[in-house]
Amino acid sequence: MTSAVEPLVAVVTTDLSAITRGRFVVESRLQKTAATGVGWLQANLSMTPFNSIVDPNPWGSSGDLRLIPDLKARFRTERTGSATPFDMVAGDIVELDGSPWLGCTRTMLRDALAELKAATGLSVIAAFEHEFNIAGGSFAPAHSMSFAALRRTDPFAPNLMAALEEAGVGPEVVIAEFGSEQFEVTHEPADALTAADRAVAIREITREVARNAGWRASFAPKVAPDAVGNGVHIHFSFVDEAGKPATYDPARPGGLSAKAGAFCAGVLRHLPAMTAMTASSVSSFYRLKPHSWSSSYTWLADRDREASLRICPTVTIGGRDPARQYNVEYRAADATGNPYLSLAAIIRAGLEGLKADLPSPPLVTGDPTLMSETERAELGLVRLPETLPAALDALLADKTVTGWFAPIFIETFVGLKQHEAERLAGLDPAAICDLYRTLY
Ligand code: GLU
Ligand code: MG
Repeated sequence: MTSAVEPLVAVVTTDLSAITRGRFVVESRLQKTAATGVGWLQANLSMTPFNSIVDPNPWGSSGDLRLIPDLKARFRTERTGSATPFDMVAGDIVELDGSPWLGCTRTMLRDALAELKAATGLSVIAAFEHEFNIAGGSFAPAHSMSFAALRRTDPFAPNLMAALEEAGVGPEVVIAEFGSEQFEVTHEPADALTAADRAVAIREITREVARNAGWRASFAPKVAPDAVGNGVHIHFSFVDEAGKPATYDPARPGGLSAKAGAFCAGVLRHLPAMTAMTASSVSSFYRLKPHSWSSSYTWLADRDREASLRICPTVTIGGRDPARQYNVEYRAADATGNPYLSLAAIIRAGLEGLKADLPSPPLVTGDPTLMSETERAELGLVRLPETLPAALDALLADKTVTGWFAPIFIETFVGLKQHEAERLAGLDPAAICDLYRTLY
């Protein structure tokens, strides 16, 4: 009689193409593995989503690192429909002596959070809202956002929610979205590092549940040039040292506290340079266009889905307190952006705004495409970069943003993304969307 196989657990990291990579050990080895991790290497940071390594890259073929699982960041569920459990632990990349590695994006997020806290006493609560498409389902046509659009996929949605729940992701709502075969799943807000870990788990669990239904879930920013975009909306709010909400101030415009306003001003100031990190692929820029409810200008608004920073609604039904619900949503992100890097960049930019004590940006209403150049300038509305190469130029031009990272990290990031843009230069948008649809 053969005994049942021992399940595996993956120690994972997310690379600069937002691909989850890692190494698997049998579950009984996890505790032992937690002490010294699994092997990793520098040049992995130069891996493209096309299964190649940028050549030359700053790392070459030598060098070794360790990927140490953070046992608090374990996501395990037996409910994806696979033969063995889905089991992943997010890890931190360190040098062989255990010191942090300058290319670890999870460490970058942790450091940014620590600096924000040290400078201001604020901690960040975050949530990632994911949109995705499902292909291969041969579904009957259904109306956008309709009851039938979700029910025709049954039991995909309840299976997904059950798997996310068991994995500890804290799923909130699953919907059929506006686009054809487009869906969305949200999770409960959590401390920012946990939220980024959850973003990785949500993507992989969703892909696995879809795969086990015989379909393919794609988080690509655009599955076709004329398709509705798949955004990743990053919600953030603050609590002070006593754990009290610090984002809301009913006396101020839009209810945005002075500190949160300074944070948002920092984000808007550096947004053109950060776009390459949060919307990180060639196809990302087909999504960031006016009139597509994504974001296209440096724009703070109260509950407007065209804005790049949207103050989200709060509910006062039954006398509920808005203070803890109140949050701002960063909309210029998608799933080709590494969630740790995206959030680290948002926090660093916000911290710049806080340190400089920037005034809250104006709450803009109206359509920037109908405003004159002067009106836009008065409101601080700057068009976001319109291509990946333009976004890389904007990144390199903003020395504050590049200064948040080690020079070799910026060299790696820019080299990787330039390679990505060059590689796709001969393809038309339809072919490019088609490619990303299969890669994400
Ligand atoms: N699909 C839109 C995007 O690309 C977002 C729609 C919404 O507001 O949920 O970000
Ligand atoms: Mg949505």
